[in-house]
Amino acid sequence: MTDQPTSPNQFDKQDPTTQYPAPPFPRQPQEAPGLVGAMDPRPDHGEDSYVGLGRLKGRKALVTGADSGIGRAAAIAFAREGADVALNYLPEEEQDAREVVALIEAAGRKAVALPGDLKDEAFCRDLVTRAVKELGGLDILVNNAGKQVSQESIADITTEQFDQTFRTNVYAMFWLTQEALRHLKAGASIINTASIQAYRPSPNLLDYASTKAAIVAFTQALAQQLGHKGIRVNAVAPGPFWTPLQPSGGQTQEKVQSFGKSTPLGRPGQPAELAPLYVFLASQESSYSSGGTFGATGGEVLF
Ligand code: NAD
Ligand code: MG
Repeated sequence: MTDQPTSPNQFDKQDPTTQYPAPPFPRQPQEAPGLVGAMDPRPDHGEDSYVGLGRLKGRKALVTGADSGIGRAAAIAFAREGADVALNYLPEEEQDAREVVALIEAAGRKAVALPGDLKDEAFCRDLVTRAVKELGGLDILVNNAGKQVSQESIADITTEQFDQTFRTNVYAMFWLTQEALRHLKAGASIINTASIQAYRPSPNLLDYASTKAAIVAFTQALAQQLGHKGIRVNAVAPGPFWTPLQPSGGQTQEKVQSFGKSTPLGRPGQPAELAPLYVFLASQESSYSSGGTFGATGGEVLF
């Protein structure tokens, strides 16, 4: 493998309260879906720190929302652990996606860029087919793309918003998973990005939180269906993470300014801090874990 950082990396001992920036943050409105380059401070996806140890050698992964945030961190880590990665994202995020493709290739792995809108069933089904064809198979599916639009009142949530949030967060997961199961074999892993919102919904995220609760139930039911086939299904439940989702309408700008402040660690998480969890769930190291929800909440109680 090439291009592995030396130090500091994810193994170096640090005080987690001071490891990354804490609020206050500047106001920084941008249009959804948002871009990494417009964020201040710039998020850390492990570009200069994540060191792989061959934990996913030869695996083939499809990651949605892989251009930025949590999906980008997972994609970089997967590649440095030896996996080839197909990335999905929206066409308007091409700039962010190009950076991820370059990082995967610098790790000596294959990157397959497959932009398109996951709200479309036909696109979702075709996405899996294309990923399988380009990668030569599939071992890991990460359903990570997500839509989050803050609204103070249920009265402000339009049917269109409700529909788009459910299509992006829940329907796409269903379509992609159904299609992927035509190809996944024993030893494969499905990882769904849920949220602390599944268990502790904020009043301004009524529709979003409902989708995250659905993702947890889907994960638990599917894990029971697939256990005997040797395919594992798990969910990750992040607390507040510093990604474009938040300043691009996922939160009010007031909440962006104090984002992560109320957690026991006193700051938001950085995507790089979630990468090892996705690697663990994708790899054989987590062979007895299925149907679980794994938190990374900065100390907030998950359930
Ligand atoms: P992000 O904005 O970096 O990533 C979300 C991605 O979703 C976008 O990059 C975009 O590519 C993709 N996406 C949205 N709509 C799409 C569509 N119609 N078609 C295709 N792709 C689409 O933000 P993130 O925070 O890294 O989000 C990743 C996941 O993490 C989401 O599921 C989100 O709900 C979840 N999550 C985030 C936080 C947080 O605080 N950031 C907390 C809990 C859960
Ligand atoms: Mg993005």
